Amino acid sequence: MEAEVTQVESNQLKQKPTDESQLGFGDIFTDHMFLANYEDGKGWINPRIVPYGDLSIDPAAMSIHYGQEIFEGLKAYRGKDGGIYLFRPKDNFRRFNISARRMCMAELDVDQAVNWMKQLILLEKAWIPKSEGTSLYIRPTMIATEPHLGVRPSRTYSFFIIIGPVGAYYKEGLDPVKIYVEDFYVRASVGGTGEVKTAGNYAASLLAAEKAKEKGFTQVLWLDAKHLKYIEEVGTMNIFFVIGDEVITAPLSGSILSGITRDSVIQIVRDWGIKVSERSLTIDEVINAAQDGTLKEAFGTGTAAVISPVGQITYKGKDHVVAGRQMGELSQRLYDEIVGIQYGQRPDKRGWVKRID
Ligand SMILES: *Cc1c(COP(=O)(O)O)cnc(C)c1O
Repeated sequence: MEAEVTQVESNQLKQKPTDESQLGFGDIFTDHMFLANYEDGKGWINPRIVPYGDLSIDPAAMSIHYGQEIFEGLKAYRGKDGGIYLFRPKDNFRRFNISARRMCMAELDVDQAVNWMKQLILLEKAWIPKSEGTSLYIRPTMIATEPHLGVRPSRTYSFFIIIGPVGAYYKEGLDPVKIYVEDFYVRASVGGTGEVKTAGNYAASLLAAEKAKEKGFTQVLWLDAKHLKYIEEVGTMNIFFVIGDEVITAPLSGSILSGITRDSVIQIVRDWGIKVSERSLTIDEVINAAQDGTLKEAFGTGTAAVISPVGQITYKGKDHVVAGRQMGELSQRLYDEIVGIQYGQRPDKRGWVKRID
């Protein structure tokens, strides 16, 4: 099922950004967007690509009142060879369906959704920036649309994809970030919705993130909700610690997001013959390792930043410097490897990259 295309009149096309070095994140969108609707009994209907613009939504739409909303985030990369590459796109839509099931929303056919997304990207390919580190960010989203104020799953949904050029995440190289270990607020609990990309998780995280920002921190490191003891993740990234010769990240226990970058890092590090463990890790173990010098590196992983080195961890009022506030050796090696694969410059032996043009 191809999407039906209604193109913007050529004299109505937007001005594309001219200076790629000034691209930020999440403010610029292309000329078109993809939309499809779901109705119980009919399935997904009316897939279409239309001029980018406002959605018309009933004020009683259930997503607005009860938060049935899910999303994804991935990128299309312009290689040096001019090719357009996607990185593990099916994994994003598989995860979208996991989110849909948890939130009692309609699932998509993964191949169908990837094809709709490709159709939109190819129509908008002139928008994909070319300089190093820049990309086209892709935001698939689903919202409940049925106008109804009783609490139950909606019977109708809208699925849409909006896309826009984004800048290199790091303006002055890979600057290590300062993270604040949050020991009061929690992001998610086991049995809750922490492992799905749904709006409410992010709303719930804002207050702690704002307070940390006021104190000069870039990100919050979340601890588990029950004991405020075990490491979970950082902001919108998974987190890894290199302690001695072991690379450690939290297990997928139900309260953290199963990052595709996280999984890629685990596979690559394992292939390099380095010990990597998905295991529970307490904040005390991390702080002790920072104090006795065995904590060599810490880094966050996610689509936006790929690898985000941590230069300082602050817990209960005490600052702990990590890796001399420099990007660690493994962090740099992983960044180069993953970015190299994403832009079609390094061998992709796992079949992660899909060239679409
Ligand atoms: C999206 C996200 C991640 C990273 O996932 P990737 O697939 O690697 O981009 C990690 N944590 C949270 C909370 C997220 O929303």
